[in-house]
Order: sequence, then C-alpha cells, then structure tokens
Amino acid sequence: MSANVWIFDLDNTLHNADAAIFPHLHVEMTRYIMTELALEEHAACALREHYWHTYGATLKGLMRHHRISPRHFLQQTHQLEQLPAMVITTKRLRHTLQQLSGRKVVFTNGPMSYAKRVLKLLAIDDLFEQVFSVESSGFHPKPAMRGFQHLLGALKVNTGNCILLEDSLPALMTAKRLGMKTIHVSKRLHKPSYVDARISTILDLPTTQIYKTYNNAKCPSSISPRE
Ligand SMILES: [Mg+2]
Repeated sequence: MSANVWIFDLDNTLHNADAAIFPHLHVEMTRYIMTELALEEHAACALREHYWHTYGATLKGLMRHHRISPRHFLQQTHQLEQLPAMVITTKRLRHTLQQLSGRKVVFTNGPMSYAKRVLKLLAIDDLFEQVFSVESSGFHPKPAMRGFQHLLGALKVNTGNCILLEDSLPALMTAKRLGMKTIHVSKRLHKPSYVDARISTILDLPTTQIYKTYNNAKCPSSISPRE
C-alpha cells in the first residue's frame, strides 16, 4: 500500500498571508498592471480582482488576455524585501506537521522563490519532500485541473491517497473531482459537499477524523502505552 500524501496549500493555509503579505502583493500587482497595460489605478485594481476571481490567480488572466511574461510578472511583483517582518510564525505549526506520518508536499499558486522563503521563515522548510509552485504547474494555477495533473504526475501517486488542505474552495472542488480527500482551512461555517472536513486553523488538523484515520495507516504495529 502506498503512503498517504498530505498536500498543503501555502498562503492562508500554513500561515496568515492576509495580515501583511497579500495587501502588499495587491499593491505591487496593481502597480505592475498600471505600468504594463497603461491603466489608471482604479481600472488596474479592478482588473486584478477580476482575474483573481475568474482564474484563481491574477497571473493567469494576464497571460491569457495580455500575453504577459509570467516570469517577468512574478519577479517584479514578489520581491518582498520586508518578508521576514511579514510572515507570522507559530511554534506549534512545526510540531503539528512533525506529528504527521506520510509524505508531505506544498502546492502553491505562488512562485518557487517566494514559497521557499516563506517556508524557511516559518522554520518548516525541511519537513516537505517537495514544493510545487506555479512554475512547477506549467503556469496552470489552482483550481485548474491541468495544474493538479502536473502535480500528480510528479508525485507518482494515486489520487485516493492524497489529502488536500486549502483555504480556497474552488481548489478543493477540483481535488474532490479527482478523488482526493479535502480539508478546508477556513473560519467560515458553511461546508460544501465536496469538503470532507473543515478546520479554522491548520493547528486543528489533529482533531479531524481524516487525521485520525490516515495518520496511523502507516504504522499498524505501533503500540500506545496508555491503552
Ligand atoms: Mg491559499
């Protein structure tokens, strides 16, 4: 039997990106669109939001409709010199992830250099066998099926062995269609049918039934000394 693969989204799943990083990225992306497409700030901001909602990533809309170079866009918008001051760390995060048996990977719509910097600042970079970035997906960001297929090809795993942890519902919907288990990391109370479990923070992962079922699957001979 092959091992389970825990697939973690990065932003707003493993850490809080809404607090400082996303507001900063929104400013940088709006500025980029203003320059490259010669738009006023208001129009650039509206276009960025429209592409985010339509494609799950601003980059995808810029590539599709304006032939923007993805590498140029990512390099210009993700410099984030103040990143160390923006990443919010929690000590329990590392401990929670260390308790998890099975393979662990990160699957993010962000660029590779950014993802690696954030994981290092969170002090969890050594816990993942692979980081799958928007470049790794062939610039088919979540929730696109093609990006997921790139990931599954790289991992060489059956979808039935995968558990996706994510804050984005469209991405979880694609994962469920592929046959993965889905955990929504969100404070929202609504739980759609394609979501198997919902937790308000990643630190609550051990409370889920999925965790209890899958975390022991690899070590059937282990003995609990308290029972
Ligand atoms: Mg996210």
